[in-house]
Amino acid sequence: RRRAREEAQRPFELSRGPLLRAKVLRLEREEHVLVLVMHHIVTDGWSASVLLRELSELYAAFEAGGVPALPELALQYADYAVWQRQWLQGEVLEAQLSYWKKALAGVPQALELPTDRPRPQVQTFRGAQVKVQLPLTLSQEVRALSQREGATLFMTLLAALQALLARYSEQTDIVVGTPIAGRNRREVEGLIGFFVNTLALRADVQGALSFKELLAQVREACLGAYAHQEMPFEQMVDALQLERDLSRTPLFQVMFVLENEPVRTVECGGLSLKPLEVEFVPAKFDLTVGLQETGQGLLSIWEYNTDLFDGETVARMAGHFQKLLEGWVARPEQRVREVQLLTEGEKRQVLEEWNRTEAEYPRDASLSELFEAQVRRTPVAVAVEYGEQRLTYEELNRRANQLAHWLKGVGVGPEVRVGLCVERSLELVVSVLGVLKAGGVYVPLDASYPRERLEWMKSEAGLAVLVAQEKLVEAVGLSEGRPVVRVDTDWEALIASQPEGNPKPVNSGANLAYVMFTSGSTGRPKGVGVPHRAVSRLVLGTNYARFGPEEVLLQLAPIAFDASTLEVWGALLHGAKLVMYPAGMPSLEELGRVLVESGVTMLFLTTALFEQMQARQPEALGQVRQLMAGGEVMPVGRARERLASGGAFSNVYGPTENTTFSTYHRMEKLEQVGATVSIGRPIANTTTYVLDEEMQPVPVGVPGELYVGGEGLAVGYVGRPELTAEKFVPHPFSGKPGERLYRTGDVVRYLPGGELEFLGRRDEQVKIRGFRIELGEVEAVLLQHPAVSTATVIVREDMPGNKRLVAYVVPEPA
Ligand code: AMP
Repeated sequence: RRRAREEAQRPFELSRGPLLRAKVLRLEREEHVLVLVMHHIVTDGWSASVLLRELSELYAAFEAGGVPALPELALQYADYAVWQRQWLQGEVLEAQLSYWKKALAGVPQALELPTDRPRPQVQTFRGAQVKVQLPLTLSQEVRALSQREGATLFMTLLAALQALLARYSEQTDIVVGTPIAGRNRREVEGLIGFFVNTLALRADVQGALSFKELLAQVREACLGAYAHQEMPFEQMVDALQLERDLSRTPLFQVMFVLENEPVRTVECGGLSLKPLEVEFVPAKFDLTVGLQETGQGLLSIWEYNTDLFDGETVARMAGHFQKLLEGWVARPEQRVREVQLLTEGEKRQVLEEWNRTEAEYPRDASLSELFEAQVRRTPVAVAVEYGEQRLTYEELNRRANQLAHWLKGVGVGPEVRVGLCVERSLELVVSVLGVLKAGGVYVPLDASYPRERLEWMKSEAGLAVLVAQEKLVEAVGLSEGRPVVRVDTDWEALIASQPEGNPKPVNSGANLAYVMFTSGSTGRPKGVGVPHRAVSRLVLGTNYARFGPEEVLLQLAPIAFDASTLEVWGALLHGAKLVMYPAGMPSLEELGRVLVESGVTMLFLTTALFEQMQARQPEALGQVRQLMAGGEVMPVGRARERLASGGAFSNVYGPTENTTFSTYHRMEKLEQVGATVSIGRPIANTTTYVLDEEMQPVPVGVPGELYVGGEGLAVGYVGRPELTAEKFVPHPFSGKPGERLYRTGDVVRYLPGGELEFLGRRDEQVKIRGFRIELGEVEAVLLQHPAVSTATVIVREDMPGNKRLVAYVVPEPA
């Protein structure tokens, strides 16, 4: 086999020949291997059977001592070649060409199948194959279906393949290549030579098509192509003037072949000949799907490029091809997007096994109760530190209670919204706790926001009371007749005289704790209403970090940004110390200094800030044992740097609507970073689903929209029932009544092990494949959209170093 493989890989010299090499290897006295290597320019699949037939006749004749008597050929290949050149000119050529130009007008640049590895810049040819035997009954049913629909088996299988490719690629315009023997004249049937041609078969695989409709279309395309099969493929590619791309084959990247059963054994002149399988599979295309008719039914052979795909991915794809055929045989009226691809086992894996995240935590308790229990456990531990100032758990509790009593006095209770406009300070933590202890809902207002936006937020949230600092009251603006307390300057006069004991608990885990505004990609900011339970699920009984009284957390995120939820409650519900970062914008040097001096052990950074700290303050960052970064796509390079220097960390992901984190990927070793940095798996009491437009699970490796669920879900957008209903949809796979999922608008896919890979955002208007925004300069790269040449990009800085794309404006008429 090795010798045969080597022979097959040895090039021919086309200008000199010979273009055929033969070798006989003796294995035993009576067992030999005939290795026959021919250049494709002088042969094809059909020729191989002609050759074998003639060879056995000759062998038998010689072996019997006779004279071989093969009939004289009427034509030679050269005659055919001359004839073809003369014939394929003028009108004949025109007719062929104009058919193909029309059939292939505007074909897509490429079929973008989801690959396991990034595509090399220049096409490679390393290949392997996966074989899957289809059940005999299915093969028979597929044949019967073809007959009922007036199509050939080839057409039915091709239609199914094109549907599969459409589902995998999320494209509708699908071109697949297929070889055609080119022996449509009796005189050439007995010739050995290169007659085979390639046809490009195109289908418009709209998701709404039924199998019957798709098949009718594929049938037309095949018949049209057969009628114009003489146009040599190479000439056609030239004539179409396609933009060529070195990384892939032109026009199509997937080939489809339906083969007859190969000859098993030939007996001739006392010799028994049988084919020897050589595992040498060059990948001429991304994928070549061959179906072979055998006595046991159809055998599917999937030849793939090993630089793009793993065997298990291709095996899964083969399984989905079978599922698709099964679905259509059973119900041919099913639409392309409806047919189930996943096997029962795969469905169980993605829907159930990878979502087994339930863990115990006090889901019915309010945050104030949980905090008060912590105060009893660690009364004298330091709870908050701001510069030289610090409060123990007991002191913090007393102050928060006093504020709570005052707030209750002005009518704060369950579901009452309280505006919060306090910079990072001890008072900020006192205020948050005070509002919750009164039973109210805090609504952070960032005084640096434009007035218009603040007004919008205030009216949208329906604020009853304002808790602020003296210097910020002006910026936020007082609402007519609403009570306000300045936690700094009013303390002595209004709060200090209030009782210090815990107010009577009025909330449960289901009440709202805060409303946080997010920009969204379009339109006005919307207020996300988050219940107590969603917050406790983030920090209690969870799996992505180790919380405890020995930890030191940094409070760095603005309170209007839900990373603050992790920082504040990750400390206060565990007896840990919360170090308040000084108010105002930090510098990287100062942040580095605070990390070291305060001995911070647990830290969340936005991806952008992580990148900069890793680049400029790697030692300070290296001290932080539990580091999490998220908010944007994690760059592979910086992730590797951190790991290479021995530091572990987690890439965390999640929308505000599912309370801070939905998934995490903890990394300790370089190998845990692939071509991209995965966003990992759901955190405890959280579920993830990757679904298609029909809200059906997509296969592993195939992109879909990420839906998240579980106990972290927000109640919805305050005052926006329609928007809430649109984004928080009924859970399609849950037995629990009323359970919902949040559609994130993010496109992801499952990696084979169950980790999620983030691919981008789903956007109705313009597909933005990636954008990069750097500190000090705004550089937005709108990729992939040919219609966009200029765009205005609006960026907002949420956090120091975290610039976010808020909107982009593409000028008319693009
Ligand atoms: P927000 O609700 O403002 O926190 O924004 C959440 C969005 O930020 C997500 O829907 C993602 O589009 C993006 N995002 C958050 N974390 C990550 C991450 N680790 N990798 C990539 N994108 C992320």
